[in-house]
Amino acid sequence: MLSYSILKRLNKEIKLLVRYKNPPDHWSVLRKKIHPVDKALNHFDDFYKQVFDKQWLTIRKGLLGTQKYVAIINNYGDSEEAMRKLELGGAINMRTLFNLEKGYIQEKLEKRMQKSRLQQIFDVDEMIEKVVENNTKNEITNAEVHKKQFSLDSSLQNAEYDTRRLVDSKNALSAEILYEFVPATKIKGKEDFIPESSHYKLYDNESQFAVSIEKEYDVHFPEFLNIYCYEAESKNDFESPKKGSTGVLNYYLMDGGSVLPVLALDLEPGSKMLDMCAAPGGKSLLALQTLYPDCIVSNDISYSRLNRIENVYKQFLYDFKEKWLSTEHIKLTNRDGRIIVEDNFDRILVDVPCTTDRHSLHENDNNIFKPSRIKERLQIPELQRQLLFNALKLVKKGGIVVYSTCSLSPIQNDGVVHMALKQIWEETNMEIVVKDLTPALQQTTNVFKMADKKLLKYGHLVLPNLAQNYGPTYFCKLQKIK
Ligand code: SAM
Repeated sequence: MLSYSILKRLNKEIKLLVRYKNPPDHWSVLRKKIHPVDKALNHFDDFYKQVFDKQWLTIRKGLLGTQKYVAIINNYGDSEEAMRKLELGGAINMRTLFNLEKGYIQEKLEKRMQKSRLQQIFDVDEMIEKVVENNTKNEITNAEVHKKQFSLDSSLQNAEYDTRRLVDSKNALSAEILYEFVPATKIKGKEDFIPESSHYKLYDNESQFAVSIEKEYDVHFPEFLNIYCYEAESKNDFESPKKGSTGVLNYYLMDGGSVLPVLALDLEPGSKMLDMCAAPGGKSLLALQTLYPDCIVSNDISYSRLNRIENVYKQFLYDFKEKWLSTEHIKLTNRDGRIIVEDNFDRILVDVPCTTDRHSLHENDNNIFKPSRIKERLQIPELQRQLLFNALKLVKKGGIVVYSTCSLSPIQNDGVVHMALKQIWEETNMEIVVKDLTPALQQTTNVFKMADKKLLKYGHLVLPNLAQNYGPTYFCKLQKIK
């Protein structure tokens, strides 16, 4: 006989089972719940399909696939040894890939120039032939007229006055005329070669403000910066970094797309740089590895995330506090980027908080598509605009600001740049030029899949895809002229 209490418990459990056919942690129950990652995918499917059209399927596969990394060699660790090992494992220095493509582009350009030069020489030849032909015809006609008008006798009688048979250098083909064509041909040929700085104004009908856009033809790859990647389609992956003889790690792994905003900063020896939204510190560390900046200020509004930057620096720099912090080569600051007032920066990176598209599709924790974060998500573009606007105010005259996100959203990308430029135009006397890096980025096509420039107004976008799964990374280079 079962006791009353056991019967009561059994009854309760049977009721529970009837209520939930499966317990709440059963896979079928879990699957029905809409997670933030699902929300993110629904949102992207709706929005990005309209932006990228047929290309969205490829990008989507990339975003849902495995992200690819590149290895930034630590110049303060066992760098030679690390590079040797990576090369043995089939990794390639990104500089080599850029240079290969650059050489190929140069070769194509030269062939095109040679072809156009030959064409011009051919055209000139043709012109000369025509001139000769006409002149010969004229001479024959003149001679016939002359022959008819004057008999030999009368001609001989008037011989001393007859100058018409002398060749007039102005009409005939002379060395002088030939010479005039030659330099013209050379200058014409050179036009293709001289980087043409097309500086034009874009007028937006709705907002009525002028934007200057200037083309750039080269990406400067700092001499001491070594970044390793694997070829497109390669399934190879980097091992976790290892500590060397000085106790610091040999390389830092980051999404390949993150390299481009730092290269776009065009750091120079002695630069003073602000990384406005720096945590966890990957791009600050990458900037440091160029060996160029005299001072890097790594700022973040979040104190706990600032600790993450410090930990990254400590893992990669020997004697971080004594050698780097106390000498002010590196500064860690914990401020809201919108209200930083310290200025005089040569370079500012504004790598803003965004919808972090790839992360939002893979991690439910801390996901910006959580219902509790809706308000924060909707306010993102406004926060981004304020951060960029302040950076443009803080940068020195002649200095460079790079704005970047890891989102595909045109609102958070070109949209924010547009809003910040509009505010600059309406509220200040500053002059900002947008740098169009399209020609310069041609040398990166071995490594990155860039979005078609037709889809973008100001910046550039690395598109995820299964073959070379980096990004998304949007970046826009801006220079303060006045
Ligand atoms: N640049 C970093 C890197 O490469 O490792 C990633 C930066 S993450 C995309 C954006 C950062 O902006 C976050 O660490 C966040 O705490 C910070 N942030 C958000 N709002 C900010 C603000 N108002 N001022 C400064 N930092 C802010």
